[in-house]
Amino acid sequence: MPTRYILIGLAAAIALTLSVVEYQAELRGIRQAAEQAVQVRANLINRYIILMRQNVYALDSTIEDRYLEARRTGSLARELESIRPFVDYDVWGVSGAAGEGGIESLSGTLTGTSVLARRPPELDYELTAVFSAESQFRTLLEHVPEVIWVYYTSLSEFIYIAPDPAVADFRFSDVLYTKEFWSQAEPSVNPEGRQIISDLYDDAYGQGLMISLSSPVVVDGRFLGIASLDLGLGLLRGATGFGEALGESILIDENNRIVARRADFELGETYDVDHREDAWIIDADGTRWRSAIVARDELRLLHRLPRSTLYWNGVRESLLVWAVLFAMLVLVAFSVRLREALAKVTTLMNRDDLTGLLNRRGIQEAYRPLRELALREGRDSALLLLDIDHFKHINDSHGHEVGDQVLSTIADRLQAHVREYDLVCRWGGEEILVFLANGDAEVYRAIAERLRQAVDARPMSSANVQVSVSGGLTLFASDESLVKNLQRADRLLYQAKDSGRNRIVSDLPDV
Ligand code: GH3
Ligand code: MG
Ligand code: MG
Repeated sequence: MPTRYILIGLAAAIALTLSVVEYQAELRGIRQAAEQAVQVRANLINRYIILMRQNVYALDSTIEDRYLEARRTGSLARELESIRPFVDYDVWGVSGAAGEGGIESLSGTLTGTSVLARRPPELDYELTAVFSAESQFRTLLEHVPEVIWVYYTSLSEFIYIAPDPAVADFRFSDVLYTKEFWSQAEPSVNPEGRQIISDLYDDAYGQGLMISLSSPVVVDGRFLGIASLDLGLGLLRGATGFGEALGESILIDENNRIVARRADFELGETYDVDHREDAWIIDADGTRWRSAIVARDELRLLHRLPRSTLYWNGVRESLLVWAVLFAMLVLVAFSVRLREALAKVTTLMNRDDLTGLLNRRGIQEAYRPLRELALREGRDSALLLLDIDHFKHINDSHGHEVGDQVLSTIADRLQAHVREYDLVCRWGGEEILVFLANGDAEVYRAIAERLRQAVDARPMSSANVQVSVSGGLTLFASDESLVKNLQRADRLLYQAKDSGRNRIVSDLPDV
């Protein structure tokens, strides 16, 4: 019995260990997939931002070049001649918008204060530079779907913005100098003239949330204005969900404010969590955080993996392996039980029901190894065949039941008086065969006599009958079978019966 529990316990322990190992491997797999996804997403967003920045640089340097060229050659843009007042709105400008009597070749709308009416030469150079960057404004709008607005805002109180909003809807006002694209890029806060990624903001013209990339335009060390490009969130949002990963990636700015994510969010919503490069951070809720830099000092991609998401998916991924391990455990339990059942059946097959002694089949299997051992040690083994005296008479006078009791008691007495390795077998109805090894003639004779006396010693059964046995004792000397050797014992037994019963007759040599 204990071996059963040890085996099943061992199998259970192995299955449990493997389950845990498997589960942890799955958790590791989930985290690794997330790490990779975060890196890929960050790279994707980074490349996209770089590409967009290059576009702004190109616009910026075109304006600078054209300014210098206009100043050198004195040749000015034709569009300057079309600048007119929009009296209803208290601005001057040129509109590219249809229905404004605008200039069709313009992709944007120019508006400004009355500075546009009485222009110093430098302003003409600047306006000429802006108008001659027309093809770039157009290209950006037509070929880069994420670009919502491209514009140049001048320190000299005008803005050129494409695509062309109607002046009624949008026009220059000095409020523009308080907007992110300006206030975060102008020289007093940005002395190196770096290109700036603005905070996320809601478009005044109803185009939704966007960020601005802004680059100061500086000619001969003089700050003229800012070239900007507004990006919608579509691609950024898509990129935060690119690839397969559990959890959610969130693009945040340097102040931890959300810039883009798949789910909805409020403008100005923040994620104040620790971030460390190339490491998972676990917060108080058990949520795991991973981060990757997108644009140094400006944007960062955060990945949030809630504990429950991680664990439940670990369980889901492990289920198949667990099921297999459980099935194996059940199999082990079954096979252990099967072995036990087999052992039981074998015992039943080799034992006699009434007396519990070995049966014929049992002794045939059991004596061989003992006899082989005896032969190797150069010793003979012996056979003692016992038969109950006048057993028929006991049955006849006390009944079969008492007969059975007698048989069973004799079996117990014999079993109690042999050595533990001697084999006692119910050979036939009331015939008992004892196989003796590991002794010599004297020992065997002594055992045989001891057994006879044990039966004869006192009455037995509920009827208190006095019973005796007769026996034939012979050496198991020849190489022949048990049955063959037994014939000699049987003859000796008959001699014992003939010579008065309750005795052992043996052909063992005197020592
Ligand atoms: P003897 O001293 O010559 O051996 O006389 P006996 O009566 O023992 O001789 P015999 O071999 O003729 O009788 C054996 C009897 O044993 C016959 C049978 O009814 C009885 N017997 C055999 N097996 C069992 C058993 O399992 N239970 C009972 N109660 N009797 C049995
Ligand atoms: Mg008999
Ligand atoms: Mg008998």
